Amino acid sequence: MSLENLMKSVASDLQLSDEDAFFLIENMINCIGREQFTKRLLIENLTDEQILVIINYMEHEKIITTEVSYECPVFNESSETIPSANKCEFCEGNLMGDIDHEVEFIYHLKDNAYKDVLKWLKEKEEERYFKHEFLDNLKRLKEASNRIIPFIGAGLSLPFGIPNWRGLIERLSPSFEKNYQNEMFDDLMDSGDFMEALELIKDKSYLITGEKQLQTKVVEIIKNTQLSYVEEREHNYSDIVKLESNFYLTTNYDLILSKYLSKFNEYTSAMNFNEFDDSQELHIGSNQVLHLHGNIKQKESMVVSKKSYEKFYSDNDNNFRFVSLIGSKPLLFLGFSFNDAFFEDLYNKIYNVISGNHYIVVANPNFDTARELAKKNLKVIGLNIKKNKNDGTDSQDYVKALKVLIRYLTNDNGT
Ligand SMILES: [Zn+2]
Repeated sequence: MSLENLMKSVASDLQLSDEDAFFLIENMINCIGREQFTKRLLIENLTDEQILVIINYMEHEKIITTEVSYECPVFNESSETIPSANKCEFCEGNLMGDIDHEVEFIYHLKDNAYKDVLKWLKEKEEERYFKHEFLDNLKRLKEASNRIIPFIGAGLSLPFGIPNWRGLIERLSPSFEKNYQNEMFDDLMDSGDFMEALELIKDKSYLITGEKQLQTKVVEIIKNTQLSYVEEREHNYSDIVKLESNFYLTTNYDLILSKYLSKFNEYTSAMNFNEFDDSQELHIGSNQVLHLHGNIKQKESMVVSKKSYEKFYSDNDNNFRFVSLIGSKPLLFLGFSFNDAFFEDLYNKIYNVISGNHYIVVANPNFDTARELAKKNLKVIGLNIKKNKNDGTDSQDYVKALKVLIRYLTNDNGT
């Protein structure tokens, strides 16, 4: 059996690219899983023609077995038979003939075929999403995967409707009296220096004065934008928890990750980083989120200006916490935009304290920046992500790529 041939046949029959044919087959396999299925089950996700073509090739490649289920209108009984049989066992009439027997084809993916298909899907997905120039970094990351500490940025909360830094700050609708202040603000936003932009809003905006008002406003925005339910395939928090780290670091204010971690038996509720006291043990399976910049439940703890941000990272106790928590373990940065001045500064501050080797997941990385990061021992895990119509990264495809990456790291073959 060759799944590669199946894909190519489907591609040529339906006039699709190999990749689109692959996604179609993948979509179908995800729909049916191990259960038996009928064409009706697939109608929501595939067209009649697509279903017909794929099923024909699957029968031909002996990946699926087919049964016919029918109802006899004469005796009001139902039964199953093989596709080549055409006689009703009750009335002996023709199944496809004149009496109106209700006939349905039932398919079943063979057990060994299912395993082969999953393996093939996994390999193809990894080939599709992992940028080969960075495979070396990826292999190292996998070797260290039981030691990595996930470090979560705003990108992971985007599928829940919560804006990233840029969106958040825009929603504060900052307005300044002076022209040069507006220009300064735009420059800071362009370079991604979000903390400095917040500082400017705090000090000079005529709508928001002071850190307290800023904290209140940010909490309001997060609460108003956060969606209460997002399907599992549309976000990555249920994947992140599979990393089963003792703890997770985040600069996010929202508490979504904790919500997903709380489904574990051993779970410790989220805490602000600067409340962490060295005598507390972070034992295996404690599944705890440490919020570096505070969280929305403790508004006054939220770091929302350059001044409090600088204070946080120059605090000796915090530096000591970084050293004792992280030690020589590698950090894995997820959901950060590595071109932002915000991330660059954040990384530098932490790196100056802990050094060591770390990793960052980047969509469609640019090689020059990757080389710059490598100088500070920050290794890029590059993912190939589809472009959206504005030439940005397609967010759905990014979510999927992260799922493939985390499955690779955790050896979860999806069965
Ligand atoms: Zn009959």
